[in-house]
Amino acid sequence: TYDIHIIGGGLAGCEAAWQLAERGLNVRLSEMRGGGDTTPAHQGDGLAELVCSNSFRSDDDERNAVGLLHHEMRQLNSLVMAAGEEARVPAGSAMAVDRDVFSRNVERRLLEHPKVTVVRERVDALPTEGPTIVATGPLTAQSLAQSIVKATGEDRLAFFDAIAPIVHRDSIDMDICWIQSRWNKRTAASNEDGDYINCPMTKDEYLAFHQGLIDGEKTEFREWEADTPYFDGCMPIEAMAARGVDTLRFGPMKPVGLDNPRDTTPEFPQGRWPYAVVQLRQDNALGTLWNMVGFQTKLKYGAQVELFRTIPGLANAEFARLGGLHRNTFINSPVVLDRHLRLRGAEHIRFAGQITGCEGYVESAAIGLLAGIMAAQDIAGRPISEPPRTTAMGALLAHITGDAAAEHYQPMNVNFGLFPPLHDVPKKQRKEAYTDRAKADLRNWLGTVETVAA
Ligand code: FAD
Repeated sequence: TYDIHIIGGGLAGCEAAWQLAERGLNVRLSEMRGGGDTTPAHQGDGLAELVCSNSFRSDDDERNAVGLLHHEMRQLNSLVMAAGEEARVPAGSAMAVDRDVFSRNVERRLLEHPKVTVVRERVDALPTEGPTIVATGPLTAQSLAQSIVKATGEDRLAFFDAIAPIVHRDSIDMDICWIQSRWNKRTAASNEDGDYINCPMTKDEYLAFHQGLIDGEKTEFREWEADTPYFDGCMPIEAMAARGVDTLRFGPMKPVGLDNPRDTTPEFPQGRWPYAVVQLRQDNALGTLWNMVGFQTKLKYGAQVELFRTIPGLANAEFARLGGLHRNTFINSPVVLDRHLRLRGAEHIRFAGQITGCEGYVESAAIGLLAGIMAAQDIAGRPISEPPRTTAMGALLAHITGDAAAEHYQPMNVNFGLFPPLHDVPKKQRKEAYTDRAKADLRNWLGTVETVAA
């Protein structure tokens, strides 16, 4: 018998299992690899296999959001961070690991733990009862994905991400751009001036930009991604550009109904429409992150930065994330999960890891860690203690469970744009200020978390 069933022995599932076991709960951890199944990206049967890069990214906990997340996880007895530390290879200020040693470390610690039972089996349906954590990742097996669709609704589970670049609001030049909704249309949720930041383009600028999209270096689909169909709604911007020089001007870069207040004439005192426009839409409730509407792309990262900084108003743009398009199974968490990662309507089930719409090894493990702590609190009948909103874990959790714009929900790495802003701190000192605040608030919170340990 076991107290909780964890489905998926990846980064998130292993971390959740560890957190629960260390709190004295009996865990059944089901992993389909090693039981006759695999995913298109995994190579072996080891738990917590890193499918691509061997890097946990920056380990700088003073100026970097993912480095701060490392710090917070270490404070919370993270298995992934401890096993990573023992597998570390030289990588400057980044944390990189030997992937085989890392996976073996995670697996050994779980197998040796008296409270953990690892079962090599595929789970095909969401359990109807009993505490459960689903951590089956971006390549969740088809049968279970169907069961999730049944529980959440057809349009709540995506099989592809279509990520448009996301820009930090304070890096947009508002002397060039302006805020307005097309035809000044408003909804109940509208902002005061309008809902979009508009970047105007002249004909020459547009033609050069169009050519840049055609010429820019692209990443190829992986073999197993190429035959997963994607909808017109998430067609890469460069594929749209290739259809004709004006396709974008009649699509996402359409200028109609947008009056540039810096281009007025006696005939158009409110401003003329530009030749083309790039629109950005608010991406989080804090208003710190804005996404480039319709700009999902397979351009290489370097090419994206270079080309998108030629857009008027974005010359100094700082990107919270660049665009992409991958096979990726994830739920619309802001809608289907509550604040504590529980599935609305089936609260015995929690989700964790990349399937919740976070992105990255460390983020997936961090959400696994939180799911584990919260499940332990639930099982013990204690109130759930959320990490402070000002910590990296709290910011990521808040993003997943409610702050992100639900209609356009796409996976996201941790970044300072998810933190409650510190507008009064000069820009140069802001990163340190975020991490200082986070560390202080985490220290206070740790006391409340440790009381649940068995
Ligand atoms: P996973 O680590 O994938 O773990 C999920 C586990 O569940 C797997 O072991 C799987 O076998 C198992 N499983 C699935 N379905 C079932 C089922 N029905 N029953 C039982 N078990 C099941 N992030 C980075 O930070 N850096 C990168 O370089 C990177 N590269 C990536 C490359 C690819 C091709 C992909 C798809 C993702 C990449 N990611 C990368 C993103 C992501 O962070 C990782 O996928 C990460 O491993 C997610 O952790 P997870 O625990 O949510 O899922």
